[in-house]
Amino acid sequence: MIKAIILDLDDTLIDTTEQLTEPWEEMLVLVLSEQTGRTLREIKSILKRFKKTNMPTNKLTLAFCEHFGINYNAVKEEVSRRISLSSLKLSYDAKRFLRSMGPYKIFLITTGSKILQERKLQHLGLVGHFTVFFDESDGNKTVFMKKILGKYSSEELICIGDNIKNEITAANSLNISTIRVLKGKRKDLRPEKKDETPTWTVHTLQEALKIIETQQRVYLHKTALSSRKPTPSRRIPTVR
Ligand SMILES: [Mg+2]
Repeated sequence: MIKAIILDLDDTLIDTTEQLTEPWEEMLVLVLSEQTGRTLREIKSILKRFKKTNMPTNKLTLAFCEHFGINYNAVKEEVSRRISLSSLKLSYDAKRFLRSMGPYKIFLITTGSKILQERKLQHLGLVGHFTVFFDESDGNKTVFMKKILGKYSSEELICIGDNIKNEITAANSLNISTIRVLKGKRKDLRPEKKDETPTWTVHTLQEALKIIETQQRVYLHKTALSSRKPTPSRRIPTVR
């Protein structure tokens, strides 16, 4: 029986690629202009040269910082502190999903700058809704999943995320069922190995919710069947 959900934030619960790529680039240009003394126009034209389709903002930022010989972490933190979040909104799909999560404990494991991830939760009014683990390292969520496994068995958990490596492979390695949401910059990536293959693949959180509910029904049905005791055969008294 599923008791808890391990949820990812970016491009799973929120549409980060769609809503925050532009604000990130705008702030990155401003920060780099301030730090290098170059004009916004110059920085923007260099950014265009670096940018590739579906390039994650962290890779773009790193490439940019290396080009200028500037400290990547310092720039990342500065952009995280100052980026405008006004375009960030919870989708109807996400709101409906969260409203249906009442029976489950939610563990949110999110990778990236803690400053920015906290700002996102604050902005969306989601502080206190989940137990949050901030992963500021390389996206290896196994460490946090193992902590959750101290409280729940793998059969009681389900992991929902968009990232083949960070969520799907990590949860698969711990025998936790996985739902991959095809969203954001990674939506066209295909699993190449068995351990990268999710148990289910969906396009929306509503579909993920249906899977969870179906799993619950299957579990309850199985439990009901196994608890049904065979009826003892009645002995017919023999008439002498
Ligand atoms: Mg994600």
